[in-house]
Amino acid sequence: MKQIQLKQVSKHFGNVEVIPPLDLQIDEGEFVVFVGPSGCGKSTLLRLIAGLEDVTAGQILINGQDATINPPSKRGLAMVFQSYALYPHMSVRKNISFPLRMAGMDKAEQARRVEDAAKVLNLTDYLDRRPGQLSGGQRQRVAIGRAIVREPTAFLFDEPLSNLDAALRVGMRLEISELHKRLATTMIYVTHDQVEAMTMADKIVVLQAGVIEQVGSPLELYHSPCNTFVAGFIGSPK
Ligand code: ADP
Ligand code: MG
Repeated sequence: MKQIQLKQVSKHFGNVEVIPPLDLQIDEGEFVVFVGPSGCGKSTLLRLIAGLEDVTAGQILINGQDATINPPSKRGLAMVFQSYALYPHMSVRKNISFPLRMAGMDKAEQARRVEDAAKVLNLTDYLDRRPGQLSGGQRQRVAIGRAIVREPTAFLFDEPLSNLDAALRVGMRLEISELHKRLATTMIYVTHDQVEAMTMADKIVVLQAGVIEQVGSPLELYHSPCNTFVAGFIGSPK
């Protein structure tokens, strides 16, 4: 089922057209990676889907409903920020439940969701610690926990691992892939790292200067790149 659909969506900042009109469809349960060089519009595209930026033109449908002018809180999506977006003075439990407290959710339901998320993320023993008392990987899991408790239609990740060291990054990639299998929820993941894209994605969207160059599985892109940009980009990891 088509879960997220972009129809002729474009974005201008002032008179600069950062994203010319594009179409994109994301199916329920897919792990989709937006990949491309720095400045190509990956974050902007993700922020348009999240509702953190308004489209200049076009339409965004979520679960068949027009969500183009809905605020982020009405889209049912959860953005996972880098772990440094955690509140240092709050416990892990308070960090994870933060969006639920903001929404005024019943306390017992909050507690149930936090316990469930902590179990999935192996954070049960760390709920009373502060972020500063955790490893980088654990902190990133807390940031993911804060998204899980909202039970979103889809998770949106913007380079969540780029401030982790290389060894940790490999481990977290596996953890996020595992999480995707377990939750079977749609994930849209932005990265400039070709290896991340090739190892994690069901579907890769290759962007250059705001234009979708190709959409396909890692194997399709590897074996049948549609142009020299895709061939060069996928073929030569940096
Ligand atoms: P990426 O995430 O692929 O590195 P971005 O989506 O952040 O790329 O940026 C795409 C282009 O849009 C860049 O040229 C960037 O400078 C520009 N841009 C992004 N956000 C803004 C903004 N708020 N105002 C003006 N220009 C922006
Ligand atoms: Mg970016």
